[in-house]
Amino acid sequence: MAKRKPFVKLQCQECKRINYFTHKSKKADEKKLEIKKFCNWCRKHTVHKEAKR
Ligand SMILES: [Zn+2]
Repeated sequence: MAKRKPFVKLQCQECKRINYFTHKSKKADEKKLEIKKFCNWCRKHTVHKEAKR
């Protein structure tokens, strides 16, 4: 049986676009990710949060 890697989408909180995909570790599974990343649409660093699948 193939094991599916859990991955999450990271969504810019300003323009609501999905900019990044990242793998989620099992330990972080319960926590919602919140990472500051550069958004190509906002042209600046914004907070990216995990988007619901
Ligand atoms: Zn943005």
